[in-house]
Amino acid sequence: MQTVDSINFNDKRALIRVDFNVPFDKQFNITDDTRIRAALPTINKVLKDGGSVVLMSHLGRPLKKLKEDGSIDREKFTLKHIVKHLSNLLERDVIFADDCIDENSQTLSNNLKNGEVLLLENTRFHKGEEKGDEAFAAQLAHHGDVYINDAFGSAHRAHASTTIVAKHFTKENKCFGYLMAAEVANAQKVLNNATKPFTAILGGAKVSDKILIIENLLNLADNIIIGGGMAYTFIKALGFNVGNSLVEDDKIDLAIDILKRANDKGVKIVLPEDSIIADKFDNDANTQIVDNLNMKSGWMGLDIGHQSISIFEDVIKESKTILWNGPMGVFEMENFQNGTRAVAIAIAHATKEGAFSLVGGGDSVAAINKFHLADKVSYVSTGGGALLEFFEGKTLPGVTALL
Ligand code: AMP
Repeated sequence: MQTVDSINFNDKRALIRVDFNVPFDKQFNITDDTRIRAALPTINKVLKDGGSVVLMSHLGRPLKKLKEDGSIDREKFTLKHIVKHLSNLLERDVIFADDCIDENSQTLSNNLKNGEVLLLENTRFHKGEEKGDEAFAAQLAHHGDVYINDAFGSAHRAHASTTIVAKHFTKENKCFGYLMAAEVANAQKVLNNATKPFTAILGGAKVSDKILIIENLLNLADNIIIGGGMAYTFIKALGFNVGNSLVEDDKIDLAIDILKRANDKGVKIVLPEDSIIADKFDNDANTQIVDNLNMKSGWMGLDIGHQSISIFEDVIKESKTILWNGPMGVFEMENFQNGTRAVAIAIAHATKEGAFSLVGGGDSVAAINKFHLADKVSYVSTGGGALLEFFEGKTLPGVTALL
């Protein structure tokens, strides 16, 4: 794996695919700049070497969310909104090109001096981006002498700027940015090199989103803890009444099959034994703690109970490698966040005792940040879908394109 450290960028123009797909408020103020900050080390390495930088990114899904008249909502999806903030972070003025391939953008990048930074407009304003169009990718490639991919969050997509563009650069002239390299190294450490016992903790809403990852983990993990809404499909599969809890009835047979295969392989599937149930999906709902045999009709499980927390904590404590994806309950609501918080704390403790812990997937990252524990785990991944696909055992086109 060639990283930016293998290249001296002096006098070179680096075309860097970053992930600046950040959230905004209604006035277009950035509400979370984590993704921008995550790209700074790579950008600064090129500048420090004496090179110049051309940045490209997508922002949202402009072609899927067209205005009523069928045109692109440029005001909403422009990357121009981040120029000021990026300039502050890089302590220099960032030049903006209001298209990513037109003549003006090419002139701007051709005239770029060492130490200068150019940000190209949203690559998804062009149909060719998501289609992985060859001609569009070739035009993007004109912007750099070297191509760096630092957008792990988009590495599972064979889009023009994340994958196809790499064809236009020789092996020596393309590489992983620091963020991408760290993401791949940490994910590989868990996938290929896990110190045992290896525990995967899966939660969130749907079994269907996590089937492939569970199936792959059956070959890798010693324990698979399943919490959150997805646990109720398994609990129902075991024959219990789960009331109005989230259940995917069409996945019951699959849940039975997974439990059987886990048993055959000696993988321990750890399910919640009690739940906090509510009479409606609301923070102010009436609640009760019940074991999973006693779930009342009409009520729904929105968090794991104390007994489950204690069982999960014991498994986590004994683990040397931990992968966490998905919350244990509806942690966005104050009254149903306890299980997710307890699991986050248990992971932090195990990490302190020497375990390697990787947290990834949108909602578990949001949870670990909410509980201020992000610096107490070994690595927090920025790549939701990309990380999941990695653990499903798929090769990521954005990674392969750099090899
Ligand atoms: P996912 O995107 O599949 O990881 O799911 C995350 C979402 O699952 C979060 O918004 C949680 O609120 C939700 N969730 C977790 N546990 C439950 C539950 N027991 N019932 C309903 N939703 C849940």
